Amino acid sequence: MNGVSRPDVRRNASPYLYGDEGAAVVRVLESGQYGHTDVTEEFERQVAHFLGVPDAVAVASGTAALHAALLAAGAGPGTEVVVPSMTFCATVQAILATGAAPRFADIDPATLCVDQDLVMEAVRESTVAVVPVLFGGRPIDLTAIQPQLAERGVAVVEDAAHAFGSRAGARRVGTSGALTCFSFGPIKNLTCGQGGMVTPRTPKEADLLRRLRLLGVTDSAHHRANSTSYRVEGFGLRYQLSGLNAAIGLAQLAHFTTTENTRRLLWRTYANALSGLEGVTLVDVDVEHAVPHLCQVRVSHRDRVFAELRANDIGVGVHYPPNHLQDAFVPWRRPLPGTEQAGREILSLPFHPHLTATDIEVVVSALARALKSATGP
Ligand SMILES: *Cc1c(COP(=O)(O)O)cnc(C)c1O
Repeated sequence: MNGVSRPDVRRNASPYLYGDEGAAVVRVLESGQYGHTDVTEEFERQVAHFLGVPDAVAVASGTAALHAALLAAGAGPGTEVVVPSMTFCATVQAILATGAAPRFADIDPATLCVDQDLVMEAVRESTVAVVPVLFGGRPIDLTAIQPQLAERGVAVVEDAAHAFGSRAGARRVGTSGALTCFSFGPIKNLTCGQGGMVTPRTPKEADLLRRLRLLGVTDSAHHRANSTSYRVEGFGLRYQLSGLNAAIGLAQLAHFTTTENTRRLLWRTYANALSGLEGVTLVDVDVEHAVPHLCQVRVSHRDRVFAELRANDIGVGVHYPPNHLQDAFVPWRRPLPGTEQAGREILSLPFHPHLTATDIEVVVSALARALKSATGP
């Protein structure tokens, strides 16, 4: 049996809706208010409460979250931002949007994440921020180097696009004292359709982020119904989260316990099915703490295995081709052996809450066959 008759197996990732999102969007549509509204602010309050932080600033996407957070951290022309090459290209584009230069860091092959040594190795005089990417949902502990970084004026801007809901110890990601950026894009752990969120470090930083996301205007239309003017206090972009999107996020958040339990269960089902399969290394994740976002393995002959699985309608993917090898980022290329090797070996199996245990069996037995034919005569 291949994946042809199983539509969920053909998709590498997929949004997962609970059914009440539609009615929530219709309520906002009928209200006639589609911009930054009370619904957006309610979403901010509920996410802050869920994470256990005093405040959270909603924006239009994860990329916008990173761009605004990096601006708040002082990134700009003449500065450098340390970032793993192993990330979605959005992380790098957000750095370039500030005018700063990316300084690519290598990764720990076991986690596909930077660690404190790799970060410190890449930090230089002109570094203003480091952007650890919480790959696949894994929290990254930089507490040991945080004093060193703070002393050098280097901010930590977490790319937690994969990691909404993950815990570091007892606390949710977003509470570590970094500027943490979430994505609520279509296939992320929680979706708004499109959306993002930043957890600020101080109330002053929260004000700055709110100005940056609303064209530099601090007293938004929402608050100036009785005024003839508005004040533009600095630089800003149209980065607000529409109430239409926030309504989807609010509905999703109410079901998040189900989402995180389902993702953990599916990941464990994969881990069991893959154990004992020769020629496959599972990229491990501590699902006690992390909400897994991807299920990745490493294999040799990856391109052949990939092609074989796709030919059998199994929705495999590659997260991600290394950024330092992309044409757009050639000026910042430097050798990163761990990333380059991972880039040749990683394979993402279909992973989203629509999958059943039977789907996972189908994927794993197709993988076993593909490995055999890729390494065979
Ligand atoms: C999705 C993603 C982003 C960007 O988020 P968008 O909401 O798509 O703009 C950034 N970094 C990583 C690692 C992502 O997976």
